[in-house]
Amino acid sequence: MKKKAVFPGSFDPITLGHCDIIERGLQLFDEIVLAIGVNSAKQYTFGLEERKRFLEETFAEESRISIATYNTLTVDFCKSVEAQFILRGLRSTKDFNYEQPIAQTNRVMAGDVETVFLMASPEVTHISSSIVREIMKYNGNYQNLVPYTVRK
Ligand code: ADP
Repeated sequence: MKKKAVFPGSFDPITLGHCDIIERGLQLFDEIVLAIGVNSAKQYTFGLEERKRFLEETFAEESRISIATYNTLTVDFCKSVEAQFILRGLRSTKDFNYEQPIAQTNRVMAGDVETVFLMASPEVTHISSSIVREIMKYNGNYQNLVPYTVRK
């Protein structure tokens, strides 16, 4: 059976940190669905369509990657696309503390969906969408933090 993972996130915007996890995820999984969670309680800098377009353009050449949006529980979305894995990245203990109860709750809700964590590569550990947004806001140089599709 093909190994399929969902990489859920806000991608507001996609960064080289996300790309690192996605590219390494492609070594582990046959297919990855980049899934933008639609959270009505959250304020985003980039609109849903724009965030989706950045993902589509960045991975246009990669047939094993698809892009989706969802507004259900992540485990339910996984089942709807027949994905056995959730892929997430870890930069720090802050990420770990945030991710632990989510992964454990997902496990209780759906024992057949396994969450797999990849440790951020050291060269991108400092990158976050929120830092990119902050630099953009003050017209700083964020070119080294995002893929070319967000740069232009
Ligand atoms: P969310 O709002 O779901 O946290 P994000 O788009 O901020 O969405 O992050 C999605 C995933 O990407 C998370 O698992 C996060 O830890 C991971 N991630 C974000 N930036 C990096 C990075 N620089 N290195 C590794 N993983 C990262």
